Amino acid sequence: MSASPKFQGSCMCGAVEYTVTGAPMMSVVCHCPSCQKVSGSTYTHNIWCHKDQLAITKGARGLKTFADKTTDSGKPFERSFCTACGNTLFGTPMVDPSIRTVSTGSLDAASKANLPPTKEFYDHNKRAWLPKIPIAGEAKL
Ligand SMILES: [Zn+2]
Ligand SMILES: [Zn+2]
Repeated sequence: MSASPKFQGSCMCGAVEYTVTGAPMMSVVCHCPSCQKVSGSTYTHNIWCHKDQLAITKGARGLKTFADKTTDSGKPFERSFCTACGNTLFGTPMVDPSIRTVSTGSLDAASKANLPPTKEFYDHNKRAWLPKIPIAGEAKL
């Protein structure tokens, strides 16, 4: 077994493939309005890592980036998606451009099997019908 975990994933059409090497900093569920839009659903779930941990191994030229400027910080949050299938894969918060977020839904089955959320953002904007999301490391009540 290698010392650092390696995660791999791809977009829906398979044009873009990537790996993440080493443990992510956080596993984040976000309920902000932009994440609801980009997910087309209720929230996003991304792992956050350093940019050097992420390697785009196939199809980097097929990615396009949208700069979301509706952030609280006023600095854009860049979201990269596959131009062939529209799958959003990566994010860069311009408050700290050394960070990359990686959508856990795009990870392969083995890679996403054990990444329970360690943070929940924009809890106040959570859809009212959602049950409490268990956050790893949080004391159970
Ligand atoms: Zn694609
Ligand atoms: Zn968000």
